[in-house]
Parts: sequence; structure tokens; C-alpha cells
Amino acid sequence: MKKLGFLFFTFLALSLIIGCATIGGRGQEIRLNTEVVIVGAGGAGYAAGLEALRAGRDVVIIEKHPTITGGNTGVAGSAANAANMPLIRSLNMQITDGERDFIERMINEYWDYPDYIVRGWARTLRPVWDAHRAAYPALFFDHPSLHALQTYYGGSGVAKPSFVHRLAHEALAAFAWLEGLDGPGGGGWLTDRLPAAVGATWRRSHTPNFYWGTLGANFFRPVEAAFLQEGGRLYMGHRADTIIMENGRAVGVSGTTVAGQRFVVRASRGVMLATGGFAANREMLNQHNRWWPEGFMGVGHTNLEHIQGDGIVMAARAGANLIDMEWIQMVSALGSVMEGGAITNVMMINTDGNRFIREDHRRDLLCLGIITQPGQIVWGIQDGHTIDDILGGHTWGANIPFDQWVAALPAHRKMADTLQDLASQIGVPYATLRGHIDAFNRAVEGTAPCPFGRMVFQYPINKPPFVAVQATANIHHTMGGVDVNDNMQALAVGGGVIPGLYAAGEVIGGVHGDNRLGANAITDILVFGRHAGKILGGPELRP
Ligand code: ADP
Repeated sequence: MKKLGFLFFTFLALSLIIGCATIGGRGQEIRLNTEVVIVGAGGAGYAAGLEALRAGRDVVIIEKHPTITGGNTGVAGSAANAANMPLIRSLNMQITDGERDFIERMINEYWDYPDYIVRGWARTLRPVWDAHRAAYPALFFDHPSLHALQTYYGGSGVAKPSFVHRLAHEALAAFAWLEGLDGPGGGGWLTDRLPAAVGATWRRSHTPNFYWGTLGANFFRPVEAAFLQEGGRLYMGHRADTIIMENGRAVGVSGTTVAGQRFVVRASRGVMLATGGFAANREMLNQHNRWWPEGFMGVGHTNLEHIQGDGIVMAARAGANLIDMEWIQMVSALGSVMEGGAITNVMMINTDGNRFIREDHRRDLLCLGIITQPGQIVWGIQDGHTIDDILGGHTWGANIPFDQWVAALPAHRKMADTLQDLASQIGVPYATLRGHIDAFNRAVEGTAPCPFGRMVFQYPINKPPFVAVQATANIHHTMGGVDVNDNMQALAVGGGVIPGLYAAGEVIGGVHGDNRLGANAITDILVFGRHAGKILGGPELRP
């Protein structure tokens, strides 16, 4: 009942706000004044909005979509990375030999790294890891410095080390902040599971309990509710197209409403872009892609159609520098749906039944593997361990029983009580599949190394039911965007900041490098959104 009342309140607030925004009559320009204007009601925008509001600012968020808030955050794969040793301890997760070796490799590889922040992660990690493995040799391990090293390594050393440091070190605090928000969903909102999302390369991906619906809704709805409840103003159906510059300073934004009216929002403290990336904008993808083969910017994508890179275009027009624009991420998915999100116990085979890659690889290499298979289609094979023990009985990102989920797309999802039956359903030779499953299971048991060098293992694939999920490589995330400094201030092409202009979330570059680790995006928007909001809540910074 409490939940219904709360939803009603949210609906009422949204209706009033949308209603207010159309006051003024067709043809007249809408004018608003505030201290902080945030463009984009997605994850980063709301996190920033709430922090700035709580610092005492008057905050307006404008959102171009007339009815949908949350942006890509709302349809994200519903996993968020943070190093969480208390949870690892309570789950008594066991470490694999490959994982032990990888920690050693990370420390050794970055021990003498020229950048002092990166070197610092390796040197911080050494004594902590040594003490851990001496005291608990079988227990899985994590630490913010390891998360940082893997993020940096997973993005080929292209990211800004100070950004990676913030991402990894403020992640758990951001989750605690989210869990602590008032409202019916506050508290107990994360599950006590810790799978590895596709491309996460480590078992640190927190998943939600679906209180707030499916997928990434759980990561922005509580913030949205708090923002509206605490006096934040949201104007939907307002698409910004211009950053208003006066004497070199960003002083507001202007644009057009869905009803066709021009609007102007002036902001005395700052303008923040939280407009997301450009993965649904084919033209921009083709313009910036340097890495994927020609034609691949035309494959499917996992984004909402209105995620078009508007903020990047506006910022560039206002003189902002753009970085990392050529790095475009693909992920294994079926159309717009993330398939087999937890890679922990998934083995991938091609349509001949052959395994072709270590499934715990970074996303770019995994997708490169997929697009070189026959038909560019693969099957993710998983078993009852994924269903019961890793995902807790529901599918990734939604609280749907697995059999119903499989039945919803019978051509692309298959389920069977035996591997033999599964092999015949997907049309691959059983002997081939069996051979790969046996090799996978030997690696889990530690009796033989994984022929593909995989390190993330938890269970053998031997528990019915067996499930096969078809996947292709789909465009998912854009790593590049507005160049900002550590205070989230936009940097100008010629150097120096653009006074008054801030950005956070997928709209910025520099956080992930050339490849984002799976489940780092939600962490990114919460950590950097909050950070930007706190900066905007404070006094003006000197340029
Ligand atoms: P992030 O993950 O960085 O928070 P999201 O994709 O979740 O980004 O959210 C971005 C939001 O910004 C979306 O709701 C999108 O509709 C909104 N948006 C994008 N461009 C504009 C624009 N020009 N004016 C207003 N809102 C915009």
C-alpha cells in the first residue's frame, strides 16, 4: 500500500511538473531561472541533481523524452561493480588459480608504471593481497585498488588514472548512499549475490532485488523519487539544443519542447550535461568508429533510440574538447536484450558447436571473437547453477522465471534436461559440445588448465536444466565524449575550463579508456554524478 501511495505521489509530481512546463501558451518562449540546470534525467543527471539539491541549490533537470526518464540507465544490464570484501566473506566465495595468478600479474605489471596513481594501486595492493592469501588461501579476493587496476588494464591504459581511482574507490559508498535513500525501496535493495557481468572480468557485479522494476530502473528510480520529493524540478519533453554562452561562460541552455515551444533555462551556478552517449546515433558512430570493421556500425544496438549524443554535439559547439570518441563498445546480446548477463558460468560455442574464446574476456575481444564466427551468431550455454545459484531463480535483469523467459523467444532460447537434448535443439553435434563442456569442467575442478585461458569459474556445467541463449555482437556503449577535469568542468579545445559548464556520465570521456568493463557504467554514473552534484552544490571554482 505504501508503495502504491508513493508511486501515486511520483506520478502526480511528474504530471504537475510536465503540466507546469507547458504554461505560457504556444508561440511564447518559456523562461526559467535556477541555480543549477542539468540536461538529461538519466542516472548521472539524477545523482548530480540530488546531491546539488541536498547542498541547498535550486535544481532544474530538463529531459527531452516526453514520458521516459532514466535514459539508458533504465535499460542497463542491471549490474554494478564495487570491491566488496564483506559480501565475499559472507558468501565464502572461493578463488581460482587463474584469479590468483591474475592478481599477481596486475601487481607485477603495474609495479613500476610511470603514472604514480596507477603505480600506487599496485603498491597498495601488494601487502593487502599477501596478508589475505596467507590468512585465507582459498577465499576470493577484491579491493578498490584491484578494481582500479583491472579497469585501467581492461581499457588498455587509455583512461585518466584519477578518474579510474575515483570510480573504484567511491563505488561502495555510492551503493550505500543509494540504499540509504528514503522511500519504500530504501534499504535491502541489493541482492547478496556477486556474479561477473559480461566483460566485468571479475566477480564484483552487484545486482538489484527488482523492487523498482526490471533492469537499471533499480539504480535510478530511488534517486528520482528522492529528487522529486525533496523539491527538485523536472521538465520533461524539453530537448536542449544550445548551451547559452555569455562572455565565455555557460549561463544556461535553450531548446524546444515537444509542443514546439522554445524554452530558455538560465542557471546562475552552472550547466551540467548528463545526456548520455551516442550509441543509437548511426551517423556519429560511423563518423567516429576507427576500430570495428566497416559495416559494423549498422548492427543492432542495446540503447534507447533517443540516446543520440546531443550533449556531446552541444558541448563541442560551445568550444569543449572531445576525447576517446573512436572507442565504441559492442556487447554480446540478442537485439536490444542483454543475454546471459552473468558470465560466471556461461560457456560460448559457435553454431558448429565449437568453443572459440575465454568467455570472461573484455567485451571488445569477446565481440571480436563473436563477429569472426560463422554467421556471426553464437550460443551461450548455461546450467542450473546459473539459474539457481548465480541469479537466484530469475533471469538477468528481470524477475521472470527462467522457463517463461526461454519460452518467450523459442527460436533464440532453448532449454533441456540433458545436454544431449540441448545439442539437438540447437543443431550442434553432441560429441563436440560434450568435449568442450568436459574441458570447461576440468578447468573448474582444477584438474586441467582451461584451453582458452579463462580464469573466472565458480561451478561446473552439470546441473539441469541446461539452457542455450543465442547472441550476436551489438553496439552498447560509447566510451568517448566531453573532456572534463577532476571537478567535472568541461575543458576547452585550446586548454583551460569552460566556466559554468560541467558534465558527468556517458557523455564524458576518460573514465573507461578504449573498452569499458562490464558493470562499470552504473558505478560510473552514480560516482561521477554524485561528484558533479557536490561540486555544483559548493562555491564556484576558480577556472
Ligand atoms: P547516463 O547513463 O550518462 O546517466 P542516460 O542515457 O541514462 O545517461 O540518460 C541520459 C538522458 O539524457 C536520457 O534520458 C536522454 O533522453 C536525456 N537527453 C539526451 N539528450 C538530451 C537533450 N538534448 N535534452 C534533454 N535531455 C536529453
